[in-house]
Amino acid sequence: MRPPYLLLDVDGVFIPFPDAEGAGPATHTRHDVVPTGRTADNPVTIWLNPAHGPLLMHVIRTGLVSPVWCTSWRQDATTLIGPLLGLPPLPHVELPRPEITTSHPNGYLWKRDHVDAWLSDAPAIWIDDDFTNLDHEWARERTARGYITALVQPDPHVGLLAEHLVEVLACAAPLSVARADASGFSCDAKVA
Ligand SMILES: [Mg+2]
Repeated sequence: MRPPYLLLDVDGVFIPFPDAEGAGPATHTRHDVVPTGRTADNPVTIWLNPAHGPLLMHVIRTGLVSPVWCTSWRQDATTLIGPLLGLPPLPHVELPRPEITTSHPNGYLWKRDHVDAWLSDAPAIWIDDDFTNLDHEWARERTARGYITALVQPDPHVGLLAEHLVEVLACAAPLSVARADASGFSCDAKVA
């Protein structure tokens, strides 16, 4: 049985929202990166926690999940963010660039319809800081239809914590044993 995808957002997860002075938490280190479409004289400052790479590698090495970037950084997550965390090249979900002024143009996360189509009937554990109640409802409905879907939602001002990855493993481990009764499976919203 294939392992669930582990969908990884970047902003608000690996890169917490900056504080009033524009800095990240004390656990995070400043980097200047040059995303696709920018030039070296116009970099973007980001803050990353060097502990996140080893933590995520621990999860990846279990073989219980199949990690995929799912972020508006798109390919740049693979080429810029991952290497700074010491991660191997991971695939990414090719998201469009919609003209939107909110991340919830229809009341739910703008990525969701694209992710839903990309996943087809695959199980998924999705880490993102920006889910709404409608996204949690979608996850519950998808799980009830037999497509296991767990949402893990860090606080964007704090970002990813070890407990979120513990939750990922707790969701993924039973799937590696059996997916006998999807209707009784629920990992959604255990971690706020
Ligand atoms: Mg985000």
